[in-house]
Amino acid sequence: MNAMTPTPISSPGPAGTPRHDDPHAARRAALYERIGPRAVAIVPGAREVRRNGTNPFRFRQSSDLLYLTGFPEPDGCAVFAPGKPQRFTMFLRPRDAAREVWYGSRVGIEDAPARLGCDQAFDHAQLEARLADLIDDSDEVYWLPGDDPELDAMLMRALQKLHKNERNGKRAPRRLVDITIALHELRLIKDEAALTTMRRAAAITVEAHELTMRAARVGKTESELTALVEYVFAKHEGAPGYEVIIGAGNNACVLHYTGGTAQIAPDELLLVDAGCEWRGFTADVTRTYPVGPAAGGPARFTPAQRRLYDLVLESQLAAIAISRPGATIEEIYLESARVLTRGLVRLGLLHGEPEELIARGEHKRYYLHRCSHFLGIDVHDVGLYFPRSPAGAAPYEPRTLAPGMVITVEPGLYIPRTAEVPPGAEEYRGIGIRIEDDVLITASGHEVLTTGITKDPGELERLVGTGATLTL
Ligand code: MG
Ligand code: ZN
Repeated sequence: MNAMTPTPISSPGPAGTPRHDDPHAARRAALYERIGPRAVAIVPGAREVRRNGTNPFRFRQSSDLLYLTGFPEPDGCAVFAPGKPQRFTMFLRPRDAAREVWYGSRVGIEDAPARLGCDQAFDHAQLEARLADLIDDSDEVYWLPGDDPELDAMLMRALQKLHKNERNGKRAPRRLVDITIALHELRLIKDEAALTTMRRAAAITVEAHELTMRAARVGKTESELTALVEYVFAKHEGAPGYEVIIGAGNNACVLHYTGGTAQIAPDELLLVDAGCEWRGFTADVTRTYPVGPAAGGPARFTPAQRRLYDLVLESQLAAIAISRPGATIEEIYLESARVLTRGLVRLGLLHGEPEELIARGEHKRYYLHRCSHFLGIDVHDVGLYFPRSPAGAAPYEPRTLAPGMVITVEPGLYIPRTAEVPPGAEEYRGIGIRIEDDVLITASGHEVLTTGITKDPGELERLVGTGATLTL
């Protein structure tokens, strides 16, 4: 492609048909199908957010707009009207030579149809002025209420404007519909392009975890290992899909521990929860392992660490084993909790009958979170966990897993230094362990996308601290 041809981010095939190799066009077509020809859907992009002073956070597009358009800039908004001649209207920032010198090039209004596959494009500043016309004479408007208060207010004003003009032949849509079911249930089932992207994100994540394992030794800091993870992500044009969590020893018991700078001390386990976001989709992987002495030498679990580790691993393998179409995230959680609770009783951390302990929620003293969440463009991805039951009333049934969904399976045990434990179980204090993999539900069962990173305790002891080489 020569320099004069704008690179298409997303473009339609002949006569507006979705191009086979363009996931965004295919996703839009699926959305059109779901909302029907009498509807309009409004999908806003993210704005730049100030971090401090005049300095913004690194920009990340809103997940819905990214999914449907791939558009990478702030201040975008897509309006979809499947039944109208102009089905896809894009609002975006116009070209601006002076600002582009400072902040980089923009797609711009002129190139938007070729690069984004839209039928028409306007300056983002015109969204309010044009919104009423775009939704005029539709039966319903789909959007995500509450997600973008500015858009909410703008939409209400557009509706009011149409109401006022009904005597002049305008007609306001009569139904306002939350877009969650139409769009997020679509995002829940990963298409081929999404899966290809997620496999790549998983492979980069595997590489980052392995390098970090090789580099981990007593005396290394949480922050320098975080930099190593982020280096591997960046080398492959990725970035963390969420803040990297690296916690040594007791710090591993803080579930969302980020930005740590502690040095790894002897006999501490290291917990690394990091996933690469690549082309919009993220992985989400956790490994926990012992580290060897600063001067070199093997990494060894202490006996107490090893007993807890084996238990979490047994729980995770059991939970993965039942991940298949027809199973529910609830069942997967219960399976993981059963294994953990039986083990906690065996180790003297809980006393009682395992099923009764679970019924009373006693296992939650050490198993603080759920076992699974959906994974995709968002690390905690969209999709209903409890869809409406057939009867249409609460309590809602837990969702049945289906091929194309990607979930995490991530049991963990956390026993902080200050935890109250039964007498005799003190040796387990100061240990936090989580093991997390990304699991694609397939027609015949499941496929673990992140198998490349070992979680076998013996292999971990052999691999950790063997030395990391960066080829720069
Ligand atoms: Mg995680
Ligand atoms: Zn997770």
